[in-house]
Amino acid sequence: MARLVMKFGGTSVADLDRIRNVARHVKREVDAGNEVAVVVSAMSGVTNSLVGYTKEAAAIHDAREYDAVVASGEQVTSGLLSIVLQDMGVDARSWQGWQIPIRTNEAHGAARIKSIEGKTLIERLERKQVAVIAGFQGLAPDNRIATLGRGGSDTSAVAIAAAIEADRCDIYTDVDGVYTTDPRIVAKAQRLDRVAFEEMLEMASLGAKVLQVRSVEMAMIHGVRTFVRSSFDDPDAPQVGAGGLPPGTLICDEDEIVEQQVVTGIAYSKDEAQISIRNVADKPGVASNVFIPLAEASINVDMIVQNISPDGKSTDITFTVPESDYERARQVIESNLEGIGFENIEGATDVVKVSVIGMGMRSHAGVAAECFRGLAEKGINIRAITTSEIKISVLIDSAYTELAVRTLHSLYGLDG
Ligand code: ADP
Ligand code: ASP
Ligand code: MG
Repeated sequence: MARLVMKFGGTSVADLDRIRNVARHVKREVDAGNEVAVVVSAMSGVTNSLVGYTKEAAAIHDAREYDAVVASGEQVTSGLLSIVLQDMGVDARSWQGWQIPIRTNEAHGAARIKSIEGKTLIERLERKQVAVIAGFQGLAPDNRIATLGRGGSDTSAVAIAAAIEADRCDIYTDVDGVYTTDPRIVAKAQRLDRVAFEEMLEMASLGAKVLQVRSVEMAMIHGVRTFVRSSFDDPDAPQVGAGGLPPGTLICDEDEIVEQQVVTGIAYSKDEAQISIRNVADKPGVASNVFIPLAEASINVDMIVQNISPDGKSTDITFTVPESDYERARQVIESNLEGIGFENIEGATDVVKVSVIGMGMRSHAGVAAECFRGLAEKGINIRAITTSEIKISVLIDSAYTELAVRTLHSLYGLDG
Protein backbone atom coordinates (compact mmCIF):
# COMPACT_ATOMS: atom_id res chain seq x y z
CA MET A 1 0.00 0.00 0.00
CA ALA A 2 1.18 3.48 -0.83
CA ARG A 3 -0.09 7.00 -0.25
CA LEU A 4 -0.36 8.77 -3.60
CA VAL A 5 -1.17 12.22 -4.92
CA MET A 6 -2.57 12.11 -8.47
CA LYS A 7 -2.76 15.46 -10.30
CA PHE A 8 -4.73 15.90 -13.53
CA GLY A 9 -4.23 18.95 -15.74
CA GLY A 10 -6.72 20.83 -17.93
CA THR A 11 -6.64 18.66 -21.07
CA SER A 12 -6.94 15.54 -18.89
CA VAL A 13 -10.30 16.79 -17.52
CA ALA A 14 -11.45 18.65 -20.65
CA ASP A 15 -14.95 17.07 -20.74
CA LEU A 16 -17.02 14.44 -18.95
CA ASP A 17 -15.60 11.60 -21.02
CA ARG A 18 -12.09 12.59 -20.03
CA ILE A 19 -13.18 13.00 -16.40
CA ARG A 20 -14.58 9.45 -16.51
CA ASN A 21 -11.23 8.29 -17.86
CA VAL A 22 -9.45 10.09 -15.01
CA ALA A 23 -11.82 8.40 -12.55
CA ARG A 24 -10.72 5.01 -13.89
CA HIS A 25 -7.08 5.92 -13.22
CA VAL A 26 -8.07 6.86 -9.65
CA LYS A 27 -10.14 3.72 -9.17
CA ARG A 28 -7.21 1.55 -10.30
CA GLU A 29 -5.05 2.98 -7.51
CA VAL A 30 -7.84 2.68 -4.92
CA ASP A 31 -8.50 -0.94 -5.93
CA ALA A 32 -4.79 -1.65 -5.51
CA GLY A 33 -5.21 -0.66 -1.85
CA ASN A 34 -3.57 2.76 -2.05
CA GLU A 35 -4.59 5.93 -0.21
CA VAL A 36 -5.32 8.56 -2.83
CA ALA A 37 -5.53 12.34 -2.84
CA VAL A 38 -6.38 13.80 -6.25
CA VAL A 39 -5.63 17.36 -7.36
CA VAL A 40 -7.49 18.73 -10.37
CA SER A 41 -7.13 21.69 -12.71
CA ALA A 42 -9.96 23.54 -14.38
CA MET A 43 -11.34 21.96 -17.57
CA SER A 44 -9.17 22.93 -20.54
CA GLY A 45 -9.74 26.54 -21.65
CA VAL A 46 -11.86 27.46 -18.63
CA THR A 47 -9.20 29.43 -16.75
CA ASN A 48 -8.35 31.38 -19.91
CA SER A 49 -11.95 32.38 -20.44
CA LEU A 50 -12.39 33.33 -16.76
CA VAL A 51 -9.26 35.51 -16.98
CA GLY A 52 -10.76 37.02 -20.14
CA TYR A 53 -13.97 37.96 -18.30
CA THR A 54 -12.06 39.78 -15.57
CA LYS A 55 -10.13 41.81 -18.17
CA GLU A 56 -13.31 42.61 -20.04
CA ALA A 57 -15.06 43.67 -16.83
CA ALA A 58 -12.31 46.22 -16.14
CA ALA A 59 -8.78 46.39 -17.55
CA ILE A 60 -7.42 47.23 -14.10
CA HIS A 61 -9.15 45.26 -11.36
CA ASP A 62 -8.93 44.15 -7.74
CA ALA A 63 -6.68 41.07 -7.49
CA ARG A 64 -8.93 39.56 -4.76
CA GLU A 65 -11.90 39.60 -7.13
CA TYR A 66 -9.74 38.23 -9.96
CA ASP A 67 -9.01 35.29 -7.63
CA ALA A 68 -12.69 34.87 -6.73
CA VAL A 69 -13.43 34.47 -10.44
CA VAL A 70 -10.53 32.39 -11.74
CA ALA A 71 -10.44 29.93 -8.81
CA SER A 72 -13.94 28.77 -9.73
CA GLY A 73 -12.80 26.52 -12.60
CA GLU A 74 -11.12 24.05 -10.26
CA GLN A 75 -14.16 23.99 -7.96
CA VAL A 76 -16.28 22.71 -10.85
CA THR A 77 -13.83 19.92 -11.76
CA SER A 78 -13.41 18.76 -8.16
CA GLY A 79 -17.19 18.39 -7.80
CA LEU A 80 -17.63 16.68 -11.17
CA LEU A 81 -14.84 14.15 -10.57
CA SER A 82 -16.25 13.38 -7.10
CA ILE A 83 -19.70 12.74 -8.60
CA VAL A 84 -18.25 10.44 -11.26
CA LEU A 85 -16.14 8.55 -8.70
CA GLN A 86 -19.14 8.11 -6.38
CA ASP A 87 -21.14 6.85 -9.36
CA MET A 88 -18.42 4.23 -9.92
CA GLY A 89 -18.74 3.12 -6.29
CA VAL A 90 -15.62 4.91 -5.06
CA ASP A 91 -15.94 6.84 -1.81
CA ALA A 92 -14.85 10.38 -2.75
CA ARG A 93 -15.29 13.93 -1.47
CA SER A 94 -14.34 17.29 -3.01
CA TRP A 95 -12.19 19.82 -1.14
CA GLN A 96 -11.64 23.49 -1.88
CA GLY A 97 -8.43 25.20 -0.79
CA TRP A 98 -10.15 26.98 2.13
CA GLN A 99 -11.63 23.75 3.47
CA ILE A 100 -8.31 21.99 4.03
CA PRO A 101 -7.03 24.77 4.53
CA ILE A 102 -4.15 25.51 2.20
CA ARG A 103 -2.79 28.80 3.57
CA THR A 104 -0.99 31.20 1.26
CA ASN A 105 0.68 34.59 1.52
CA GLU A 106 -1.13 37.80 0.57
CA ALA A 107 0.04 37.95 -3.07
CA HIS A 108 -3.36 37.51 -4.74
CA GLY A 109 -3.02 36.21 -8.29
CA ALA A 110 0.44 34.72 -7.69
CA ALA A 111 0.23 33.57 -4.07
CA ARG A 112 2.75 31.25 -2.46
CA ILE A 113 1.67 28.34 -0.27
CA LYS A 114 2.72 28.93 3.35
CA SER A 115 1.26 25.88 5.08
CA ILE A 116 -1.15 23.00 4.64
CA GLU A 117 -3.15 21.38 7.42
CA GLY A 118 -2.68 17.69 6.55
CA LYS A 119 -4.42 16.15 9.58
CA THR A 120 -8.04 16.03 8.39
CA LEU A 121 -7.00 14.90 4.93
CA ILE A 122 -4.92 12.06 6.35
CA GLU A 123 -7.85 10.93 8.53
CA ARG A 124 -10.08 10.73 5.45
CA LEU A 125 -7.42 8.94 3.42
CA GLU A 126 -6.93 6.40 6.19
CA ARG A 127 -10.68 5.75 6.03
CA LYS A 128 -10.10 4.99 2.31
CA GLN A 129 -11.98 8.06 1.16
CA VAL A 130 -10.52 9.72 -1.95
CA ALA A 131 -9.95 13.45 -1.46
CA VAL A 132 -10.55 15.38 -4.69
CA ILE A 133 -8.83 18.70 -4.15
CA ALA A 134 -9.28 21.83 -6.26
CA GLY A 135 -5.78 22.84 -7.39
CA PHE A 136 -4.49 26.37 -8.00
CA GLN A 137 -6.17 27.86 -4.91
CA GLY A 138 -5.69 28.54 -1.24
CA LEU A 139 -6.72 30.87 1.55
CA ALA A 140 -4.88 34.20 1.96
CA PRO A 141 -4.32 35.91 5.36
CA ASP A 142 -7.26 38.23 4.56
CA ASN A 143 -9.46 35.10 4.64
CA ARG A 144 -10.12 35.33 0.91
CA ILE A 145 -9.42 32.89 -1.90
CA ALA A 146 -5.98 33.28 -3.46
CA THR A 147 -4.71 31.68 -6.66
CA LEU A 148 -1.17 30.44 -7.19
CA GLY A 149 -0.31 31.81 -10.64
CA ARG A 150 -0.92 30.09 -13.99
CA GLY A 151 -0.11 26.39 -13.95
CA GLY A 152 -0.40 26.46 -10.14
CA SER A 153 -2.19 23.12 -9.74
CA ASP A 154 1.18 21.40 -10.11
CA THR A 155 2.33 23.28 -7.03
CA SER A 156 -0.86 22.43 -5.13
CA ALA A 157 -0.21 18.76 -5.86
CA VAL A 158 3.42 18.71 -4.77
CA ALA A 159 2.66 20.79 -1.66
CA ILE A 160 -0.11 18.38 -0.66
CA ALA A 161 2.18 15.42 -1.29
CA ALA A 162 4.71 16.99 1.10
CA ALA A 163 2.03 17.78 3.71
CA ILE A 164 0.55 14.28 3.79
CA GLU A 165 3.96 12.61 3.36
CA ALA A 166 2.87 10.86 0.18
CA ASP A 167 5.09 8.19 -1.30
CA ARG A 168 4.82 9.76 -4.75
CA CYS A 169 3.21 12.66 -6.57
CA ASP A 170 1.99 11.62 -10.03
CA ILE A 171 1.47 14.51 -12.46
CA TYR A 172 -0.83 13.21 -15.20
CA THR A 173 -0.77 15.39 -18.31
CA ASP A 174 -1.17 15.29 -22.09
CA VAL A 175 2.38 14.02 -22.72
CA ASP A 176 3.89 10.86 -21.26
CA GLY A 177 6.76 12.58 -19.48
CA VAL A 178 9.36 15.31 -19.65
CA TYR A 179 11.05 15.44 -23.04
CA THR A 180 14.43 16.75 -24.19
CA THR A 181 12.46 19.72 -25.53
CA ASP A 182 8.81 20.61 -26.17
CA PRO A 183 7.55 17.62 -28.21
CA ARG A 184 5.01 19.93 -29.84
CA ILE A 185 7.73 21.76 -31.74
CA VAL A 186 10.42 19.09 -32.15
CA ALA A 187 9.12 15.75 -33.37
CA LYS A 188 12.50 14.14 -32.59
CA ALA A 189 12.33 15.08 -28.89
CA GLN A 190 12.89 12.08 -26.61
CA ARG A 191 11.37 11.26 -23.27
CA LEU A 192 13.75 11.43 -20.33
CA ASP A 193 13.46 8.59 -17.80
CA ARG A 194 14.87 10.65 -14.96
CA VAL A 195 15.61 14.33 -14.49
CA ALA A 196 17.40 15.81 -11.48
CA PHE A 197 15.47 18.40 -9.43
CA GLU A 198 18.01 21.13 -10.29
CA GLU A 199 17.77 20.45 -14.01
CA MET A 200 14.00 20.36 -13.96
CA LEU A 201 13.99 23.64 -12.06
CA GLU A 202 16.08 25.24 -14.81
CA MET A 203 13.98 23.68 -17.59
CA ALA A 204 10.74 24.89 -16.00
CA SER A 205 12.06 28.39 -15.25
CA LEU A 206 13.39 28.67 -18.79
CA GLY A 207 10.07 27.86 -20.44
CA ALA A 208 9.31 24.11 -20.30
CA LYS A 209 5.80 24.64 -18.98
CA VAL A 210 5.15 20.94 -18.34
CA LEU A 211 5.64 21.74 -14.61
CA GLN A 212 5.13 25.05 -12.83
CA VAL A 213 8.47 26.35 -11.52
CA ARG A 214 7.29 26.54 -7.92
CA SER A 215 6.17 22.93 -7.97
CA VAL A 216 9.72 21.86 -8.80
CA GLU A 217 11.14 24.12 -6.07
CA MET A 218 8.72 22.57 -3.63
CA ALA A 219 9.55 19.00 -4.76
CA MET A 220 13.26 19.73 -4.39
CA ILE A 221 12.97 21.27 -0.91
CA HIS A 222 10.73 18.53 0.46
CA GLY A 223 12.24 15.67 -1.55
CA VAL A 224 8.89 14.74 -3.14
CA ARG A 225 9.33 12.01 -5.75
CA THR A 226 7.43 13.50 -8.67
CA PHE A 227 6.46 11.38 -11.64
CA VAL A 228 5.22 12.98 -14.89
CA ARG A 229 3.04 10.62 -16.94
CA SER A 230 0.16 10.56 -19.41
CA SER A 231 -3.53 10.54 -18.47
CA PHE A 232 -4.24 9.33 -22.01
CA ASP A 233 -2.80 5.86 -21.30
CA ASP A 234 -5.28 3.04 -20.84
CA PRO A 235 -6.19 3.24 -17.13
CA ASP A 236 -6.59 -0.54 -16.94
CA ALA A 237 -3.27 -1.41 -18.57
CA PRO A 238 -0.95 -3.28 -16.20
CA GLN A 239 1.37 -0.87 -14.38
CA VAL A 240 4.58 -2.46 -15.55
CA GLY A 241 8.00 -0.99 -16.27
CA ALA A 242 10.83 0.23 -14.06
CA GLY A 243 9.77 0.12 -10.40
CA GLY A 244 6.23 -0.91 -11.40
CA LEU A 245 5.78 2.40 -13.17
CA PRO A 246 4.50 2.92 -16.71
CA PRO A 247 6.33 5.21 -19.18
CA GLY A 248 7.01 8.58 -17.63
CA THR A 249 9.69 10.78 -16.12
CA LEU A 250 10.80 10.66 -12.50
CA ILE A 251 12.04 13.96 -11.08
CA CYS A 252 14.52 12.94 -8.40
CA ASP A 253 17.85 13.53 -6.68
CA GLU A 254 20.94 13.81 -8.82
CA ASP A 255 22.50 10.68 -7.22
CA GLU A 256 19.58 8.57 -8.44
CA ILE A 257 20.66 9.26 -12.02
CA VAL A 258 23.19 6.78 -13.28
CA GLU A 259 24.16 8.18 -16.67
CA GLN A 260 24.41 11.95 -16.64
CA GLN A 261 24.33 13.61 -20.07
CA VAL A 262 26.23 16.85 -20.70
CA VAL A 263 23.09 18.47 -22.12
CA THR A 264 19.71 17.22 -20.91
CA GLY A 265 17.32 19.52 -22.70
CA ILE A 266 16.50 22.67 -24.66
CA ALA A 267 13.82 25.10 -23.49
CA TYR A 268 12.44 28.30 -24.94
CA SER A 269 10.39 31.16 -23.60
CA LYS A 270 8.47 33.63 -25.74
CA ASP A 271 7.40 35.67 -22.75
CA GLU A 272 10.39 38.01 -23.08
CA ALA A 273 10.92 41.64 -24.02
CA GLN A 274 14.20 43.42 -24.58
CA ILE A 275 14.93 46.99 -23.47
CA SER A 276 18.11 48.87 -24.44
CA ILE A 277 19.12 52.22 -23.01
CA ARG A 278 21.52 53.91 -25.42
CA ASN A 279 24.35 56.23 -24.46
CA VAL A 280 23.53 56.41 -20.80
CA ALA A 281 26.10 58.18 -18.60
CA ASP A 282 28.88 55.78 -17.51
CA LYS A 283 29.20 56.69 -13.84
CA PRO A 284 28.53 55.05 -10.47
CA GLY A 285 24.87 54.72 -9.58
CA VAL A 286 23.42 54.46 -13.07
CA ALA A 287 22.71 50.73 -12.93
CA SER A 288 21.09 51.12 -9.52
CA ASN A 289 18.98 54.00 -10.91
CA VAL A 290 17.71 51.61 -13.57
CA PHE A 291 17.28 48.40 -11.63
CA ILE A 292 16.16 49.50 -8.16
CA PRO A 293 13.01 51.27 -9.44
CA LEU A 294 12.23 48.19 -11.57
CA ALA A 295 12.55 45.96 -8.51
CA GLU A 296 10.35 48.35 -6.52
CA ALA A 297 7.74 48.05 -9.28
CA SER A 298 7.97 44.23 -8.88
CA ILE A 299 9.30 43.85 -12.41
CA ASN A 300 11.59 40.84 -12.77
CA VAL A 301 14.72 41.61 -14.75
CA ASP A 302 16.40 38.58 -16.28
CA MET A 303 19.31 38.97 -18.72
CA ILE A 304 21.50 42.07 -18.30
CA VAL A 305 24.22 43.20 -20.69
CA GLN A 306 26.27 46.36 -20.13
CA ASN A 307 29.13 47.47 -22.35
CA ILE A 308 32.39 48.92 -21.13
CA SER A 309 32.31 52.40 -22.66
CA PRO A 310 35.16 53.20 -25.04
CA ASP A 311 35.44 56.82 -23.86
CA GLY A 312 34.50 56.40 -20.21
CA LYS A 313 31.55 58.77 -20.71
CA SER A 314 28.57 56.80 -21.92
CA THR A 315 27.52 53.22 -22.44
CA ASP A 316 24.57 50.98 -23.42
CA ILE A 317 22.56 48.83 -21.02
CA THR A 318 20.38 46.01 -22.38
CA PHE A 319 18.13 43.78 -20.30
CA THR A 320 15.02 41.64 -20.56
CA VAL A 321 11.72 41.67 -18.66
CA PRO A 322 8.55 39.56 -19.02
CA GLU A 323 6.62 40.70 -22.09
CA SER A 324 3.59 41.66 -19.98
CA ASP A 325 5.75 44.17 -18.04
CA TYR A 326 7.33 45.74 -21.12
CA GLU A 327 5.36 49.03 -21.29
CA ARG A 328 5.44 49.50 -17.53
CA ALA A 329 9.19 48.89 -17.42
CA ARG A 330 9.82 51.52 -20.10
CA GLN A 331 7.74 54.05 -18.16
CA VAL A 332 9.53 53.29 -14.89
CA ILE A 333 12.92 53.81 -16.55
CA GLU A 334 11.95 56.98 -18.36
CA SER A 335 10.73 58.59 -15.17
CA ASN A 336 13.82 57.50 -13.19
CA LEU A 337 16.53 58.36 -15.67
CA GLU A 338 15.67 62.05 -15.85
CA GLY A 339 18.68 64.08 -14.92
CA ILE A 340 21.10 61.23 -15.61
CA GLY A 341 21.22 61.67 -19.33
CA PHE A 342 20.74 59.06 -22.03
CA GLU A 343 20.16 59.15 -25.74
CA ASN A 344 17.10 56.96 -26.13
CA ILE A 345 15.35 53.78 -25.06
CA GLU A 346 14.81 51.06 -27.62
CA GLY A 347 12.88 47.87 -27.17
CA ALA A 348 11.59 44.71 -28.82
CA THR A 349 8.93 42.19 -27.92
CA ASP A 350 9.44 39.87 -30.90
CA VAL A 351 12.27 38.08 -29.09
CA VAL A 352 12.61 34.61 -27.58
CA LYS A 353 15.00 33.16 -25.04
CA VAL A 354 16.38 29.75 -26.00
CA SER A 355 18.27 27.81 -23.32
CA VAL A 356 20.50 24.74 -23.22
CA ILE A 357 20.37 22.91 -19.88
CA GLY A 358 22.47 20.13 -18.38
CA MET A 359 24.16 19.25 -15.09
CA GLY A 360 27.07 17.80 -17.08
CA MET A 361 28.03 21.33 -18.17
CA ARG A 362 29.63 21.78 -14.76
CA SER A 363 32.48 19.53 -15.82
CA HIS A 364 32.55 20.05 -19.61
CA ALA A 365 34.18 22.93 -21.46
CA GLY A 366 33.04 24.23 -24.84
CA VAL A 367 29.28 23.72 -24.52
CA ALA A 368 28.57 27.45 -24.95
CA ALA A 369 31.00 27.79 -27.84
CA GLU A 370 29.22 24.97 -29.67
CA CYS A 371 25.88 26.68 -29.15
CA PHE A 372 27.13 29.96 -30.62
CA ARG A 373 28.71 28.18 -33.59
CA GLY A 374 25.53 26.19 -34.28
CA LEU A 375 23.37 29.32 -34.28
CA ALA A 376 25.88 31.29 -36.38
CA GLU A 377 25.89 28.57 -39.05
CA LYS A 378 22.13 29.05 -39.40
CA GLY A 379 22.53 32.84 -39.62
CA ILE A 380 20.79 33.39 -36.26
CA ASN A 381 21.93 36.57 -34.53
CA ILE A 382 22.31 36.58 -30.73
CA ARG A 383 21.08 39.72 -28.92
CA ALA A 384 22.05 38.79 -25.35
CA ILE A 385 23.59 35.86 -23.48
CA THR A 386 23.44 34.64 -19.88
CA THR A 387 24.98 31.55 -18.38
CA SER A 388 25.02 29.67 -15.10
CA GLU A 389 26.82 26.50 -14.06
CA ILE A 390 24.19 24.32 -15.71
CA LYS A 391 22.62 26.45 -18.45
CA ILE A 392 23.28 28.81 -21.35
CA SER A 393 20.54 31.17 -22.55
CA VAL A 394 20.54 33.28 -25.69
CA LEU A 395 18.06 35.96 -26.73
CA ILE A 396 17.21 35.84 -30.44
CA ASP A 397 14.49 37.05 -32.84
CA SER A 398 11.32 35.05 -32.26
CA ALA A 399 11.04 34.24 -35.99
CA TYR A 400 13.95 31.82 -35.48
CA THR A 401 12.52 29.97 -32.43
CA GLU A 402 11.88 26.61 -34.04
CA LEU A 403 15.03 26.69 -36.16
CA ALA A 404 17.17 27.49 -33.12
CA VAL A 405 15.56 24.85 -30.88
CA ARG A 406 15.83 22.15 -33.57
CA THR A 407 19.41 23.12 -34.41
CA LEU A 408 20.56 22.94 -30.79
CA HIS A 409 18.56 19.77 -30.18
CA SER A 410 20.46 17.89 -32.88
CA LEU A 411 23.76 19.65 -32.20
CA TYR A 412 23.88 18.19 -28.67
CA GLY A 413 22.87 14.72 -29.87
CA LEU A 414 19.36 14.79 -28.40
CA ASP A 415 17.45 13.79 -31.57
CA GLY A 416 15.67 10.47 -31.25
P1 ADP B 1 -1.52 20.37 -17.94
O1 ADP B 1 -2.76 21.01 -18.46
O2 ADP B 1 -1.63 18.90 -17.78
O3 ADP B 1 -1.00 21.06 -16.71
P2 ADP B 1 0.44 21.77 -19.57
O4 ADP B 1 -0.09 22.25 -20.89
O5 ADP B 1 0.57 22.77 -18.49
O6 ADP B 1 -0.43 20.53 -19.11
O7 ADP B 1 1.87 21.08 -19.78
C1 ADP B 1 2.03 20.05 -20.73
C2 ADP B 1 2.63 20.61 -22.02
O8 ADP B 1 3.94 21.10 -21.77
C3 ADP B 1 2.82 19.61 -23.12
O9 ADP B 1 1.66 19.44 -23.90
C4 ADP B 1 4.00 20.18 -23.91
O10 ADP B 1 3.59 20.82 -25.11
C5 ADP B 1 4.59 21.24 -23.01
N1 ADP B 1 6.03 21.09 -22.84
C6 ADP B 1 6.95 22.09 -22.98
N2 ADP B 1 8.19 21.64 -22.80
C7 ADP B 1 8.09 20.31 -22.53
C8 ADP B 1 9.03 19.28 -22.26
N3 ADP B 1 10.36 19.53 -22.21
N4 ADP B 1 8.56 18.03 -22.04
C9 ADP B 1 7.25 17.76 -22.09
N5 ADP B 1 6.30 18.70 -22.34
C10 ADP B 1 6.71 19.96 -22.56
N1 ASP C 1 -6.24 26.18 -14.20
C1 ASP C 1 -5.03 26.92 -13.86
C2 ASP C 1 -4.38 27.45 -15.13
O1 ASP C 1 -4.84 27.20 -16.22
C3 ASP C 1 -4.08 26.12 -13.02
C4 ASP C 1 -3.54 24.87 -13.67
O2 ASP C 1 -4.07 24.36 -14.65
O3 ASP C 1 -2.52 24.38 -13.17
O4 ASP C 1 -3.40 28.15 -15.03
MG1 MG D 1 0.17 22.81 -16.42
